[in-house]
Amino acid sequence: MAHRAELIAVGTELLLGSIVNTDAQILSERLAELGVDVLYHTVVGDNPRRLREALTLARSRVDIIITTGGLGPTYDDLTKQTICDTFGRKNVLYPELADWLRDLFAARNRPMAETNLQQAYLPENCTVFHNHNGTAPGCAFCEGGVHVLMLPGPPRECELMFRTGAEPYLRALSEGVIASHTLRIYGKGESDMESLLRDKIEKMTNPTVAPYARSDECMLRVTAKAATAEEAEALLRPAVDEVMAVVGEWVYGVDVDSLESVCVAALKARGATLAAAESCTGGLLAKRVTDVPGASAVFLGGVVSYTNGIKSKVLNVPQSLLDEYGAVSAPVARAMAEGARALTGADYALSVTGVAGPDGDGRGNPVGLVYVALADAAGATVKECRFGRRTRDHIRAQSVNTALDMLRRRLG
Ligand code: ATP
Repeated sequence: MAHRAELIAVGTELLLGSIVNTDAQILSERLAELGVDVLYHTVVGDNPRRLREALTLARSRVDIIITTGGLGPTYDDLTKQTICDTFGRKNVLYPELADWLRDLFAARNRPMAETNLQQAYLPENCTVFHNHNGTAPGCAFCEGGVHVLMLPGPPRECELMFRTGAEPYLRALSEGVIASHTLRIYGKGESDMESLLRDKIEKMTNPTVAPYARSDECMLRVTAKAATAEEAEALLRPAVDEVMAVVGEWVYGVDVDSLESVCVAALKARGATLAAAESCTGGLLAKRVTDVPGASAVFLGGVVSYTNGIKSKVLNVPQSLLDEYGAVSAPVARAMAEGARALTGADYALSVTGVAGPDGDGRGNPVGLVYVALADAAGATVKECRFGRRTRDHIRAQSVNTALDMLRRRLG
């Protein structure tokens, strides 16, 4: 039977709405990949009595409890002691953690307050999870058939500790191996995927296929369970091919990080270079490309040509085009991409010009109208997008995604 989990996030800030429970989102996704059913998300303030109540309820209904937050050295960080009290374990000093903490502070040239030593205390006889991004170690133990895992609150600490500590711990609980491949999709939504693949989703039992929505895109996860990793992979390969035969057109990569990482890798593989000319995205395209480590090998630079003056002076967009068609138009998008290519000498150039809103552009163009162009040695192609009256952030993000998707298709 699949393991059943409850996530308990500890922190009054979460209840006040000062921060969002992103840890729950990250962990739920990772747990689904491991075949663990997450049945409940609970949020409790920094209050020992209520945390104890939540833990008592959780242990009655699931066999895996994962807490996030409250592991720090301050007085409101009460998770460890409350868990120890609830599960009848002693909170004991782990001398190797105390040494590790002292070394960490010494390496940072900072004095260590005595309160920091509290972080070297964990429940007796637990599996320690080391923190590679911070000072609060986490841990896991099993009491009465219930596994309790404690992870730190800050998302980058929580995510890394899950991968390096909790995931191996949880994998060891299940018989056999659960493996998955993730197909990343741009240009079709979760419901489109579901209707295109309904037959397969319903028929497939091992492997299974499931669509997931992300903020600007969608993913399909194909998951298999088998005795060994090799057997799981042997089940996965034909299933992925089967899914690709239906939706491959929109899949920009399997087990990849992002559209931009796919573009950077494809440019590197060709020894080709890229430049950008941006209006309504204000540098977001260049930012996304340069978020990818190693982008300097392929990205030459970009121009944020927010005004007509810069479009014509720097990118050489003819004034006549700006006068006749306006800045938000296919001819101007094309001229911007060609101009960026000529200016930088890049093999490929992408451009974006549009109305991100909330107001129109004064020429009657609606919010969400965006032109994206890609220029290379063969000329330029332009795509007209109508994203509709969405938020400024959404329109800008989708404009960049469209530009990157055009490039990856051209390079594909
Ligand atoms: P620290 O050692 O930093 O104190 P901690 O494990 O004690 O880590 P908390 O003190 O509970 O964690 O939270 C520290 C910060 O981590 C919070 O201010 C918040 O920014 C972030 N955080 C905590 N819980 C969550 C959560 N569930 N989702 C997203 N961010 C969180």
